[in-house]
Amino acid sequence: LAQTLQQLPANFLNDLSEMGFEDMTVDTILTGETAALISMEYGFEPTVDDGATRDLRPRPTPSDPSTLPSRPPIVTIMGHVDHGKTTLLDWLRKSSVVAQEHGGITQHIGAFIVNMPSGKSITFLDTPGHAAFLTMRQRGANVTDIVVLVVAADDSVKPQTVEALKHARAAKVPIIVAINKIDKEDARVEQVKADLSRHGVEIEDFGGDVQVVPVSGKTGQGMEDLEENIVTLSEILDVRAENDGMAEGWVLESSIKPYGRAATVLVKRGTLRQGDMIVAGRTWARIRWLRNEAGVEVSEAPPGTPVEILGWRELPDAGEQVLQAPDEDRAKVAVDYRQEMADRQQSSIYIAEQQRRQREKEAAEAAAELAASEDSELDSKPAQPGITTQNFIVKADVAGSVEAVCGSIVGLGNHEVQSTVLQSGAGLITETDVERAGISKAVIVNFNLPIQPHIQQLAEAAGVKILDHRVIYHVVDEVKDCLSNLLPPNI
Ligand code: GDP
Repeated sequence: LAQTLQQLPANFLNDLSEMGFEDMTVDTILTGETAALISMEYGFEPTVDDGATRDLRPRPTPSDPSTLPSRPPIVTIMGHVDHGKTTLLDWLRKSSVVAQEHGGITQHIGAFIVNMPSGKSITFLDTPGHAAFLTMRQRGANVTDIVVLVVAADDSVKPQTVEALKHARAAKVPIIVAINKIDKEDARVEQVKADLSRHGVEIEDFGGDVQVVPVSGKTGQGMEDLEENIVTLSEILDVRAENDGMAEGWVLESSIKPYGRAATVLVKRGTLRQGDMIVAGRTWARIRWLRNEAGVEVSEAPPGTPVEILGWRELPDAGEQVLQAPDEDRAKVAVDYRQEMADRQQSSIYIAEQQRRQREKEAAEAAAELAASEDSELDSKPAQPGITTQNFIVKADVAGSVEAVCGSIVGLGNHEVQSTVLQSGAGLITETDVERAGISKAVIVNFNLPIQPHIQQLAEAAGVKILDHRVIYHVVDEVKDCLSNLLPPNI
């Protein structure tokens, strides 16, 4: 910042303390807002880059959503283990139109649609239990409109039932209770209702608004009622979305399939079609194929529909938000911007970590000095016994990448092996770098730069390893490999 503002570092630090910023050092990390305030003191007119022009963002919600077309509700099934979540999902999956059209065979893509005789449809998330719901929520994805809480009639309310209730409440998602296994002789429906009520569930029978449907996943009894109840609740909730404009959704799951990188996207707004450009996290796709849960190619996916999408550059993570981009350039700019932000965040974590270590080192030295002055016969010991270190020399195209690469590799390892950066700088690998690496048994990291042939030969002759990458996390992966090679066997 001092450089940009054309100030000498020492004067700059002085000015900062006069402005009331205490304890500033050359290593202090400023937020964008603080840096902007400081710049104004020097007569600059800063703008804080919040990525608005480069990143992709969801469009604002319309002020009156009641005029939008309605979409299918998205339902998650939760409940205690063995209470019948999987059985209910299996029953529902078999009742889906897609399954009936294709001889009852569906592929697991993470969600499926059930079409009702009334013409309405319901989307069920196909992963029962809390884990999927929580993973999505942790990433800020409130994809679920309704939770179906399954309680076995012969077992009543159990710890995971209470957990599920807690999660649904925290997410402000309404529930419908399905009291399952009513075909069993020891089914005690009234007992379950009383127990639920004791746990604060305001069920309909007792004057509340939570619907309770007795069902059997085994015989199918009550299952149509359950579906009808879901539709009724979704009408009350009035779930709607635009089916035009730039599409938005969430990645439900992703994996490499025999036919390519596939990710199931649950569309929340807009309609996805073949050829559309979409961005998810730090990857993008030009949609090559859209497939439904029967593995059949579909031409479009409107709001509330799950589709398996092919055409990804890299596999996106489950829980990642999907946003449509108007064209390939915008998609690439957004992905680059997100990568840059992630790298920057990593490098500031690195600097903070360095500062912490420095402070710890100083404190340890001070303590050692004190101990030595008190007891001059203190044995000298190695600083950190038992730790093997792997040295690295980092070379990258520009200073920013040097910092980012160092930031992501310093401190990797565990209590047995650790990485340290011996030396770093912007520019091509030189002969001196190779020599130094040879002497100090360092590995050279070459980031986003060509390697001259004679350097390559020199390194090979000297037995110096060069990791050559253009993507930070590839560097990280290989550094981790280097470190684990240093670990003693069987650990
Ligand atoms: P989950 O752990 O909640 O997914 O429970 P499952 O669906 O795996 O069911 C646990 C056990 O209960 C299985 O043996 C099912 O066959 C059985 N089960 C599930 N639903 C019913 C039902 O409605 N009636 C009866 N009698 N058994 C059921």
